[in-house]
Amino acid sequence: MFIVLLGAPGSGKGTAGKIIAEDLKLAHISTGDLFRENLKNETELGKEAKEYMDKGELVPDKVTIKMLKDRLNSDDVENGAVLDGFPRTGVQAVSLDKMLGEMNAKVDMALNIDVPFEEIVERIANRRSCKNCGEIYNVVFNPPKQEGICDKCGGELYQREDQKPEVVENRLKVYSETAEELINHYKNAGVLYDAKAGDAVGKTSYDVAKEVEEYIKNK
Ligand code: ADP
Ligand code: ZN
Repeated sequence: MFIVLLGAPGSGKGTAGKIIAEDLKLAHISTGDLFRENLKNETELGKEAKEYMDKGELVPDKVTIKMLKDRLNSDDVENGAVLDGFPRTGVQAVSLDKMLGEMNAKVDMALNIDVPFEEIVERIANRRSCKNCGEIYNVVFNPPKQEGICDKCGGELYQREDQKPEVVENRLKVYSETAEELINHYKNAGVLYDAKAGDAVGKTSYDVAKEVEEYIKNK
């Protein structure tokens, strides 16, 4: 089974996606995480992606598609995957259909998580990431036990470059430009599932995940 997560940055799709992947025993593939890993390891790919990421722009399709294709070939993807952050353009969506087709698979569900933009801006402003392991906290809804320090690994928490307000606005703008095309792509394929997300962050993502699992079970 392959599930695609649509929804703006900050919609909570990452958190929901992780829960769904774990519960349904699917791989969790986040292109943002893959890029950040490459950045950290200073690979050629990382160097190429950095200038785009720092501005909140999309990394070019060619680079992104190749990275995803490599990832889809890993052993842990055998049962399927939750794709977080891919596709983000029409070209990526079409190439995903093709890649999955070659694996005798398809996108079974595109989950669209709808959250008002004003709320997203606030959520992202409250986000902190661990420098060491990448774990994400929300200083209001999901704070670390000790301020500035990661519960999981003791690493230092910081505000990612792309979580700064001006960059967030640009990311939302970039998202809006391609969102409709993606939503229509999956609506036409008959696999779009719309989830309206409410207010409280932690609760929202968890609820969305459980709602989706219930839906899949009864399908
Ligand atoms: P967000 O919080 O915006 O969902 P991600 O962590 O998914 O951010 O991605 C961070 C950055 O990585 C994006 O702003 C973009 O530069 C790059 N990126 C991630 N996925 C893609 C993609 N599918 N196509 C192009 N660029 C991507
Ligand atoms: Zn950590």
